[in-house]
Amino acid sequence: MRQPKIAADAERSLRLCEPFLWLNNNLVPVSRAQVRLRPSLRDIYDAEARLSSYGGLLMHLFPELRPTVGTIESPLYHAGKFQAALSPGCELGRWLIKGDHALPVAGSIKARGGIYEVLLHAEALALRHGLLSQKDDRGILASPRVRALYGEHVIAVGSTGNLGLSIGIIATALGFRAKVHMSGVAKSWKIDRLRARGVEVIRHNGDFGAAVASGREIAREDSRTYFVDDENSWSLFFGYSVAALRLQRQLAERHIQVDAQHPLFVYLPCGVGGAPGGISFGLRTIFGDHVHCFLAEPVSSPCMLVRLAVLDDRPCSVSVLGLDNRTEADGLAVGKASELAAGVMRHLVSGVFTVRDEELFEDLYRLEVTEGLRIEPSAAACLRGPQWILHSEAGRRYQRNLGIAEVMDKATHVLWTTGGSLVPEDEYHGFHERGAGLWESKNRPTGRS
Ligand SMILES: *Cc1c(COP(=O)(O)O)cnc(C)c1O
Repeated sequence: MRQPKIAADAERSLRLCEPFLWLNNNLVPVSRAQVRLRPSLRDIYDAEARLSSYGGLLMHLFPELRPTVGTIESPLYHAGKFQAALSPGCELGRWLIKGDHALPVAGSIKARGGIYEVLLHAEALALRHGLLSQKDDRGILASPRVRALYGEHVIAVGSTGNLGLSIGIIATALGFRAKVHMSGVAKSWKIDRLRARGVEVIRHNGDFGAAVASGREIAREDSRTYFVDDENSWSLFFGYSVAALRLQRQLAERHIQVDAQHPLFVYLPCGVGGAPGGISFGLRTIFGDHVHCFLAEPVSSPCMLVRLAVLDDRPCSVSVLGLDNRTEADGLAVGKASELAAGVMRHLVSGVFTVRDEELFEDLYRLEVTEGLRIEPSAAACLRGPQWILHSEAGRRYQRNLGIAEVMDKATHVLWTTGGSLVPEDEYHGFHERGAGLWESKNRPTGRS
């Protein structure tokens, strides 16, 4: 591949795997960005309406959804104790956690897009076979006749782990056969859990891009296989974007204002870009220029940063910078960003910051100790967001550029914890130990042993 052209200072930090905050020069006011975009607010409302039409069906398939009548949603938590633990210096503003680690059914942000896309396909298939009419209740999709139809069809996907979990769970719950192509980094417990549900898991030695490519290829040869394409799917994207409407309501319930005097900052871990892309798109569409979306990526897999930073605007893999795409943040271990997501993010996201693996474990541990929340390493990538904005040179420059330095004391910061509740106890214990070790070695009083 040709050498990418990237601003020299950013390229230096990238090559050295040195955490930094990159600001997006192509950020424009939302009104100007929207003109260039295909999707609109309507698409988000459509997706939400369709999801609610599946509420009864979802409640039937997953009894854990009874309390919310089939809505898959996560809590918004106060993160005051986590914030206080980082002081002095982090007192400014209100910090919240959007806890997608606790999303029901799939335990990660992938529950949003993945389940939505499979439901759309299931509905289309039943309509095509005359087993459902437009006016029927979607609960019919759980009937024996429809299930028998699904049993003859396959849903396939390429994944680093969590999308496979999400798709495998919903597909088998509906009666489909499911095939998940996992990249080399996929955790064994995610694979075991899928196999226990009867999902066929195909392990690939290569990275995420390779797993997706071979899954796509195999699916193409079989007319009964539907492939969920994480690199190129508007359905996934709109499924994810619904989270923005939900966050809007949760903020309103808490009487939290978002306007020129009360900016909203949102920090989202980013892999291929679909989930943070859908959510950023939704938030910018709803809150306009008062919301500031920042992405978080591992220092060895900053695929969206690289994609947005290349000066001649073309696809680009992290390998051309000598980066190996190896990280404990399996959900973010992606070498090449989705072109669909990058196209949307180009003018909508404010910037990207990078994170070292040790910082993930340290922050995961800190969150557990302060707030009692258990997340997976990928989700921890977002946790340094406010510090980058409040305390780095680039962060202060951003505040000045946008003219919001004076209102930062009234800002709301939302840390989006994207996965974790399905992590088995012994696996989590390993994360905890690693974080505790790092924490202690850093905070050990000097001069004594
Ligand atoms: C997949 C994933 C992400 C990022 O989503 P993308 O659509 O790949 O950008 C973030 N966190 C976790 C835990 C994930 O599984």
